[in-house]
Amino acid sequence: MARGVYIHIPFCHQICNYCDFNKFYFKNQPVDEYIEALGKEMALVTKKYPEHFRNIETIFLGGGTPTALSPEQLDKLLTYIHAYIPMSSVKEFTSEANPDELSAAKLQVLFDGGVNRLSMGVQSFDQGLLQKIGRTHSNEHVYETIALAKQHGFHNISIDLMYGLPGQTMAQWLDSLEKAFALDLPHFSAYSLIVEPKTIFYNQYAKGKLHLPTEDLEADMYDVLMQEMSLHGLQQYEISNFAKPGFHSEHNKIYWDNDEYAGFGAGAHGYLAGIRYSNHGPLKKYMDAVFAEELPIVHEHEVTQAEKREEQMFLGLRKTEGVMHSIYEEKFNEPMNAQYEQVIEKLESEGLLEHDERGIRLTRKGRFVGNEVFQQFLLED
Ligand code: SF4
Repeated sequence: MARGVYIHIPFCHQICNYCDFNKFYFKNQPVDEYIEALGKEMALVTKKYPEHFRNIETIFLGGGTPTALSPEQLDKLLTYIHAYIPMSSVKEFTSEANPDELSAAKLQVLFDGGVNRLSMGVQSFDQGLLQKIGRTHSNEHVYETIALAKQHGFHNISIDLMYGLPGQTMAQWLDSLEKAFALDLPHFSAYSLIVEPKTIFYNQYAKGKLHLPTEDLEADMYDVLMQEMSLHGLQQYEISNFAKPGFHSEHNKIYWDNDEYAGFGAGAHGYLAGIRYSNHGPLKKYMDAVFAEELPIVHEHEVTQAEKREEQMFLGLRKTEGVMHSIYEEKFNEPMNAQYEQVIEKLESEGLLEHDERGIRLTRKGRFVGNEVFQQFLLED
């Protein structure tokens, strides 16, 4: 049973140097046709799996940039969502947004269409760093847009920040954090830069032209991030996410709970009826399939029981609350220790995991090396 819906809008008015998402430069793209295709895909999938859409709790418009669309295009998209996704159980409806694209007209359309949470890609408050990473907005855009969003009734607003950026100093990171806290928002996500293949930064890195902070400095930035968030009353509820009470991202929690969700759009991923799938990334392939009344799936995989256990651990340990014994036992009909007793003991002895009667979780030390911890939970076939 799906708990969430993800909808991918793969258009951007700018291409950021670090981005490896499925996205296309907006100009000259068949955007209206793409929105038609999304409506068609929602119709096909909800007809095929009606029972999976009875209790949708969250919807997330991501990208790309949903706010690259015009107000009319956003309105059309929202009309399709309301036509095909049962909304009565939806409690959180998020749209990603770029600070320099969110006009009053777009905010009004989003609000009227039921969107009740905004997630804005701010990344940094340092103009030089913003230019280096390929962002086009200024701090004024951020301040004006957040004020405008609040005027339009949006109070659940999150911003994304990045650290470990090329040439970034600790002073610049602290300054960005200070400016972020001054906005008095209920939610922040903060990610370290990862240089992914097929990005502009990857090419620069390969040529020795990308000068990143040392690993030690990046770890210190993460340390400072956790301290500062805590000092400002924001609880760390996941490795990269911080919120005031009552403002956790419900949609992302579905991923970390290893529960099912539907993904719509070019390059979108989903997990439905025990199958993880991904859609065609190229627009033409995606749209051709949908308009031929076919699901636009390029890859699908029925998740094995071993993979489900592994994912329950990797994803669950991202959360500060960790993996609960009761939920694990309910899903797998056996205690966590049946598969993982030795690895849990080992990681506890290294100070990377801790446990109580409710479950297991990363220690503060473990959060710095999360990926290394997660790998330990791979099961042999
Ligand atoms: S980071 Fe966001 S805005 Fe930048 S190119 Fe990627 S999807 Fe577009």
